[in-house]
Amino acid sequence: MTPERIGPYRILEKIGSGGMGQVYLGEHDETQARAAIKVLSASLAQEGGFVDRFNREIDAMRKLDNPHIVKLFESGMDGGNYYYAMEYVPGETLMAMMRREKRLPWQKAVEIAVQICQALKSAHDHGIIHRDLKPSNLLVAENDFIKLTDFGVAQVFASQRLTITGGIIGTAEYMSPEQAEGKRAGKQSDLYSLGAVMYTMITGRTPFSGSTAVEVIQKHRFGLFDRPSLFVDDLPKRVEETICRLLEKDPAKRFPDALVLLRHLEQIVRHEEFAEKGATKANTSPSAPDAVTMVVSGSSAADESAADGRPGIPGPATLMQGLMRAELEELNRGHWLSSLFNSLAVQLTLLTLVVGGGVWWFWPRPVSQQALFDKGVAAMEQQAGPGWIQARRESFDKLLANDPETWREQVEPYLNQIKLYELGRSSGVNRRKKGAAPESESERLLQLALHYRQIGDYTRAQRILNSLHQVLAGIEPRDAEQQRIFDLSAQSLKEWGESDAEQPDRNRLVEAALARADELAQDPATAEQARAIWSSLVELYGYDSSAAGYVERARSGLARLAPNE
Ligand code: ADP
Ligand code: MG
Repeated sequence: MTPERIGPYRILEKIGSGGMGQVYLGEHDETQARAAIKVLSASLAQEGGFVDRFNREIDAMRKLDNPHIVKLFESGMDGGNYYYAMEYVPGETLMAMMRREKRLPWQKAVEIAVQICQALKSAHDHGIIHRDLKPSNLLVAENDFIKLTDFGVAQVFASQRLTITGGIIGTAEYMSPEQAEGKRAGKQSDLYSLGAVMYTMITGRTPFSGSTAVEVIQKHRFGLFDRPSLFVDDLPKRVEETICRLLEKDPAKRFPDALVLLRHLEQIVRHEEFAEKGATKANTSPSAPDAVTMVVSGSSAADESAADGRPGIPGPATLMQGLMRAELEELNRGHWLSSLFNSLAVQLTLLTLVVGGGVWWFWPRPVSQQALFDKGVAAMEQQAGPGWIQARRESFDKLLANDPETWREQVEPYLNQIKLYELGRSSGVNRRKKGAAPESESERLLQLALHYRQIGDYTRAQRILNSLHQVLAGIEPRDAEQQRIFDLSAQSLKEWGESDAEQPDRNRLVEAALARADELAQDPATAEQARAIWSSLVELYGYDSSAAGYVERARSGLARLAPNE
C-alpha cells in the first residue's frame, strides 16, 4: 500500500523495494523538488541502538558530496517509520542493466569501476565505508553515469543477528570475507565488493554463488573462484589480475586504497588502447606463469578448501581449470580430456601434486616479481621525475633481465613513458646536462616536438610530432631506432591528444585581450590600440589551428576598423 505522504513529501509512486524497506518517488511540498524516499521497515527499528546508529550514519552521509554519490537530503520519522529522502536518479540499477545485458565489455566495466572508485575515494576520505556495495546500490543515470547509494546503511543494521543470518543484507554475493566473519569492515572491504561487482559485470556471474547466504559467505571466506578469463575471451591479463587482487581474502593484499586502484584502472585503459593501436602483432597466448600466480595467490584458501573437500566449493576444480586451461587449449584435445580434469578425484590428486610441488617451486618467483612490478607502477603513478628513472633501474630493467617473456608486454609502455620523459628533459630550455644530443635525426625531431610542448606551444609540438609520425609510418621496413621513435611518437600523439585539448591559461589571456580590444574599438580615439591588439593576436596565433576561432575574431575586428583608414 503506497502512502500518500511521508514527512514533507507527497508520494507519487513506488519505485522499488529492498531488504530494508520500500522506496518511493516523492515531491517536496514547498520546493517541489523530487526525491527518492526510503522508508525502513518498522520492525527494524526495534533493534537495540538502532536510533542512535541511524542518526549517526545519516549525519555522516550528509557530508558526502560527490557527483557519483547519491545526495542525501533529509531524514526523519513519520507515523513510527524511519525514512530518508535522497536525490532521485532516473534510470535503472546496475542490477537491472546486468539482467538485460548479461555481460559488459571489459572497457565499459572498467569505466563503471572508475566511477565507483571516485565515489569510494570521496567517502573513504571522510571516514565512511559503504559496507554494502552491490549492483542494486549502483544507479545508472544517463550516459552510464554511475551513482552509488545507501552509503553506510548496512551499518545502521549491523547488529550481529541481522547481518550473520543474511536476512537483512539481501545478498551476500558481494560481501568481503572479513565482513562474512563478522569483523569490522574497512576501506578494503569496499574494494573487495568492487572486485566482485567488476567480476560480475565482466563475466555475467558472481564470483561465488550458492543456494543459501551461509553457503555463499563460506565461499567468500574459503573458496576459490573461477578466473574471469574462463568466461571471457580477450580479457586483458591486467584486468583479470586487478579483479583477482581485489578479491584477495587478505585485505592487506588488495589495493591500498580507491585512488591507487583508480589510477591503476586508468593506466590499464591507456595501455590497452595503446597496445591495440600498435598491435598488428599476433596475440600472445596465455602463459603458464599466469596459472602459477593463481595458485600462489589463492594458496592459503586452497589448502583450507582442499581439506574441506566438499564438491560445492569451487576450490580444487577452479585451481586445476586455471592451471590446465592454457595447455588444454593449446593441445585442443577435445572434451575427453576436459571431462577427465573435471573429475574431482583427478583434480584432487593433481591438486596435491601441484600444491605440494608446484607452489614450492614457483612461489618465491612470481610473488617477488609481481611486487617488483607493483613497486615500479606505484612510482610511475607519481609525477614524472627522478622517481621514474629509479623505477626503471630498480623494477622494470630487473624484470626484463630476469624474465623478459613474461614481463615485456607489461613493462614496455612504462619504459616508453620514461624514455619520453628523459627526452623531454634533455630537450629542455635549461639543459644542464651535457651529452644529451639526439642519437638520430628522428630522435632530434621528437626532441624538437617535446621542446615546443614544454614551452607551451602545443600546436607546433603537435604538428612536428604528426609529421614525424607520418614520415616514419611511410618507411618500410624501419630500422630499430626508427621503430623506437615511431612507437614513442605514437604514444605521445595519443597522450597529447588527450591532455592538450584545453589550454585554459592561453584562453584566458586571449579572451582578456579580445575583450579589451572590443572596448577600445568603441571609441575612435582608442581604435588604434584595438587594432594593435588584434594584429598582435593574429601575429602570435595565426599559425595555430587550435586558436583559429580567436584569430578569426581578431581578423574580423581588423576588418571592421579598416573603412576608417
Ligand atoms: P536494494 O538496494 O536492496 O535493491 P533498496 O531498498 O535500497 O534495495 O532499493 C530498492 C530499489 O529502489 C532499487 O533497486 C532501485 O531500483 C530503487 N532506488 C533506490 N534508491 C533510488 C534513488 N535514489 N533513485 C532512484 N531509484 C532508487
Ligand atoms: Mg539499496
